[in-house]
Amino acid sequence: MPSFDAIIIGGGHNGLIAAAYLARAGLRALVLERRPILGGASITEEIHPGFRVSTLAYACGLLRSEIKEELELERFGLDERPYDPSQFLPFPDGRHLLFRHDAAWNAEQVAKFSRADAQALPRYERFWREFAELVEPTLLAPPVSLADLVSLVRTPEAEDFLRQLMLRSVADLLDDFFESDEVKASFATSAVAGTLAGPRTPGTAFVLGHHTLGTIRGQKGVWGWVRGGMGAIPDAIARAARAHGAEIRTSAPVSRILVRDGRVAGVEILDGARIESRVVVSGVDPRRTFLGLVGADHLPEDFVRAVARIRMESSSFKLNLALRELPDITAVPGTHLQDHHRAILDIAPSMDYLERAFDDAKYGRPSREPFLEFVIQSANDPTVAPPGMHTLTVSAKFAPFDLAKGTWDDEGEAFADRILETLEAYAPNLRRAVVAKHIYTPLDMEREHGMTRGDVFHGAILPYQMFSFRPVPGWSQYRTPVEGLYLGGAGAHPGGGVLGAPGRNAATAVLEDWPRLKGA
Ligand SMILES: Cc1cc2nc3c(=O)[nH]c(=O)nc-3n(C[C@H](O)[C@H](O)[C@H](O)COP(=O)(O)OP(=O)(O)OC[C@H]3O[C@@H](n4cnc5c(N)ncnc54)[C@H](O)[C@@H]3O)c2cc1C
Repeated sequence: MPSFDAIIIGGGHNGLIAAAYLARAGLRALVLERRPILGGASITEEIHPGFRVSTLAYACGLLRSEIKEELELERFGLDERPYDPSQFLPFPDGRHLLFRHDAAWNAEQVAKFSRADAQALPRYERFWREFAELVEPTLLAPPVSLADLVSLVRTPEAEDFLRQLMLRSVADLLDDFFESDEVKASFATSAVAGTLAGPRTPGTAFVLGHHTLGTIRGQKGVWGWVRGGMGAIPDAIARAARAHGAEIRTSAPVSRILVRDGRVAGVEILDGARIESRVVVSGVDPRRTFLGLVGADHLPEDFVRAVARIRMESSSFKLNLALRELPDITAVPGTHLQDHHRAILDIAPSMDYLERAFDDAKYGRPSREPFLEFVIQSANDPTVAPPGMHTLTVSAKFAPFDLAKGTWDDEGEAFADRILETLEAYAPNLRRAVVAKHIYTPLDMEREHGMTRGDVFHGAILPYQMFSFRPVPGWSQYRTPVEGLYLGGAGAHPGGGVLGAPGRNAATAVLEDWPRLKGA
């Protein structure tokens, strides 16, 4: 008899969640993670003595509340808080927008740019509330087919709602609500974050919707920070999984998924050791899982073709900084701690700016004027930096994996410098405040984190790769052409972000099949 019932490949948050649920149901579960630390793209790393940074993902909130409760993650150390203020955008003319969780305050901010837009805010917020009410109940279940989804649409209003969400660009959608370019750009940031698409690309309205699904301590539609950085999320999940009896091994790269007579038989680790199990759940992206670890020989040809064609190109670039003082932002001057330092900060001054930043990436160039999103974790959470010092993590959203000229190993430092130059235009003290700097290029993300082509979501989250089309049409129910092999990472429904739903849903599918599999 195999020593484990289920092996989970990858100790990203989804793999750990799958392990926790399987162990909780009584299965002997083993997690194998190739890196020395758990968490995948949700990690905290020390980039300089005393400076601990969320080096990849930097905002929490998407992790489903049901998972937090069922796995008692607060009891295991998870402490999430909403970013408050929620978002800050400085503009080149010295104006700014500072959003809070306060409708009256936000209306005043927007009215600085357009009174009509301030009046449109409640209608805009209602639109996304309706989206959340529709979509949230579908996240912790296998996806419905497009045909079933369309059959639910019975009125012209519902049909139009579906059209807006699935088919339109965020630029078109925002034009229906607002006139100010600055206001539109502030909302469009979430629609192109983690997606190689400009605001005028169809489907980006849906991406914005995906990013409105956060909940922290009952507060809906919010992004937040975690005490200790993003690595505190997998750490809490790992504690829960271990408490339920799961075994977790790090520095244990899986080199092969073993298949015997069309059924999964276990895995082989890089050192050649084999571990048998009846079930394998892969928390690794679909391209790497099927074409790398299983191998095309064990899979139907049309499936292999579909997996090879999954659009995996939503890469980004991270610049992580240790700072001796806070950025002195010209729009709201001062290096003393102020409210805007606690928010998610965006350099996205106009819709054209965002579109041009994408245009460069489309042709294989890092953006000449990059769209940047950054957070200063230490402004909320002093535990991550020495007293009086700060951490800052910048995400440059359009960083194409394939460069038209050179490689990321050659170009990384130059792009980091361009990011600093862009930030300096808004915060002139930034460069001299830097104590240490650390970068992750898209190539590093593939090499060090096993994310194919640096795709932050294990495959684009545009509508044509979501729901029953994820990872590929016909195989969206977590099961795969290999009996006993399941996909439970961000490449499965409902997709990327530190959401946890793919891991939980894959575990549910395993448990449904377990009575049959355990007897086999
Ligand atoms: C730069 C960046 C910024 C992001 N920002 C945010 C954000 O702010 N908020 C948010 O919600 N989401 C963000 N995301 C997206 C989010 O982090 C990912 O979608 C999510 O972490 C995916 O989780 P996962 O568990 O499915 O996979 P991953 O986190 O990719 O984990 C997969 C794990 O599998 C391991 N692995 C790979 N191959 C093997 C192997 N052969 N053997 C054993 N282990 C293996 C990897 O080392 C990794 O630990 C960001 C992602 C990136 C890269």
